Amino acid sequence: MKFILLFLPLFILASSLQEYRVQKTSYARALLDNDKKDQADALKSLIQTSKELKFNPSYYENKLKFLERKTLLTKKQETNIQKFTRNPIVSPKSISKPIDIKETKAVKKSKIIVIDPGHGGKDPGAVANNKQEKNIVLLVSKKLKLILQSRGYTVFLTRDKDVYIDLKKRTSLALDKNADLFLSLHINSHSKSDSSINGVETFFLSPARSKRAKEVAKKENSSALKYADEFSTQSFLNFLSQEKIVMSNKLAIDVQKGILNSTRSLKYNTKDRGVKEAPFWVLAGIDVPSVLIELGYITDIREVTKLTNKDYQLLLATGIANGIESFFAKNK
Ligand SMILES: [Zn+2]
Repeated sequence: MKFILLFLPLFILASSLQEYRVQKTSYARALLDNDKKDQADALKSLIQTSKELKFNPSYYENKLKFLERKTLLTKKQETNIQKFTRNPIVSPKSISKPIDIKETKAVKKSKIIVIDPGHGGKDPGAVANNKQEKNIVLLVSKKLKLILQSRGYTVFLTRDKDVYIDLKKRTSLALDKNADLFLSLHINSHSKSDSSINGVETFFLSPARSKRAKEVAKKENSSALKYADEFSTQSFLNFLSQEKIVMSNKLAIDVQKGILNSTRSLKYNTKDRGVKEAPFWVLAGIDVPSVLIELGYITDIREVTKLTNKDYQLLLATGIANGIESFFAKNK
């Protein structure tokens, strides 16, 4: 009897894990079948089991929230169309009339962008040459917000002052505001022996392949999420939709190009470190195209001088805004 009692907790854990795997499979199947009700049911069970297993349930909670909102919107649209078609004065043809310029402008205006200045408060991010990552990214983010607003977009910052914000709040803002895009801004760093490494790189979320991508992600993830272990990272990434990966990749390409064109237009010799994929947690809980930009290296003295220069910050912000515009122009 004693023997059984000793192993009882282990047995419960094993069966919960088994249940968790089964629930993940049913969720994947519901996704494939595009069955919203089954998806919601599977997510509810996954949230419950995650809690039992002491896993972080926020990923499933966000998914469920998003799903419920989407279902609500579809219902509203359906009733609107019903009202519309029931009215005999309006011919059904006008429903599918081509969009005129006025409407296109309205579409652009309605685009919502969430900008996430990395770190903040007790978390300074990368520190070198007497500068802190959290301060530089906030200044660039504020400039980016102004530029995008002047071009007709609706913009939200996850923080507009030097405060610490946990990861969940950063992503839930994107969900609450119904964002179309999410961009997280960061500054990179390297060890003393490599203090001449510099340049811009843009990441999009995907199961990381290269060792280097994993290292960068580890640095950015560690301060925000302490329980990030290999197992939960993988289970998060397994649910990434292919469409989100492709769109985020496209956004990353446009943003990277925008930054290089903008900074190089004024003879700054900004190095192109390319578009890369990495498993960043901050991008995981969001269902819209999202990228993480490393604007430069704080450890390179010449680069950090540029990064703290107002004109260069403006060029960076303009470049990102141009990248966003060309992304929207190509992917309406
Ligand atoms: Zn960072």
